[in-house]
Amino acid sequence: MDAAGRTTGTKYECLLFDMDDTLYPLSSGLNLACRKNIQDYMLRHLNIEESEVPRMCLELYKEYGTTMAGLKALGYEFDNDEFHAFVHGRLPYDTLKPDPVLRSLLLSTLQRKIIFTNSDKKHALEVLNRLGLEDCFEGIICFETLNPALEPVEFMDALDDNAVLSGDEGGLDITDSSAANSVSSKRRVLCKPALEAIEAAIRIANVDPKKTIFFDDSARNIASGKAAGLHTVIVGSSVLIPGADYALSCIHNMKEAIAEIWEGEEGEQQEQVIQSTTVETVVLA
Ligand SMILES: [Mg+2]
Repeated sequence: MDAAGRTTGTKYECLLFDMDDTLYPLSSGLNLACRKNIQDYMLRHLNIEESEVPRMCLELYKEYGTTMAGLKALGYEFDNDEFHAFVHGRLPYDTLKPDPVLRSLLLSTLQRKIIFTNSDKKHALEVLNRLGLEDCFEGIICFETLNPALEPVEFMDALDDNAVLSGDEGGLDITDSSAANSVSSKRRVLCKPALEAIEAAIRIANVDPKKTIFFDDSARNIASGKAAGLHTVIVGSSVLIPGADYALSCIHNMKEAIAEIWEGEEGEQQEQVIQSTTVETVVLA
């Protein structure tokens, strides 16, 4: 039975999750360490004046979605893998611990569950593994997914040889990557919060935005998600922000705050829990 069939009649057919600072709290320190590493890279590898680095880092982040996207837009040339390895390679991943509460919540839902992150594939897999969530998602839409021509890799990259999902089996079908290709051919990094990036993710995941709920800790990503027609949840905030339909101070509160996700599915729940444990996460890169 496909995902749509399992969730017929329910309000949501897909749960789309940002990863960093959404599936784990900002207090983990990864965000801060990541910013420090980006600034070190700008200083050491791009020879940007030390006094300029913090301001430039922030301004590029605001203007282009990520500092990396801004650096590329300004014409700095560097290898994407090298940048990601430098920025993520020394992160304090030890602070991320398995989260059985979130795992149980995710596995108790019938909807398709997909990660949509600006980060690279290696970081995404590391974080999901540390959190013990590596088999909770159907697929990952990451940097390499949206920027294929910048970093030529195979579109469908599985965790192991047995985990490749195809469109026929209800897995993600990335046949429509025209949006990502057309953008990357202009040498611009495609990432959230660009509306174009959200719309590309919707097409790649092959979901109906009106039946998809998008979780993210970034106010600007939430605003773009709403503009793209998604239902939206701001995570890490106890108050609603513009464009958000729900606010969750912590992802663990999702069942109390958004009961509709679990409505009308009790009869099939057990079957899905068993199925979910057998599905590996596929990276769309
Ligand atoms: Mg985030």
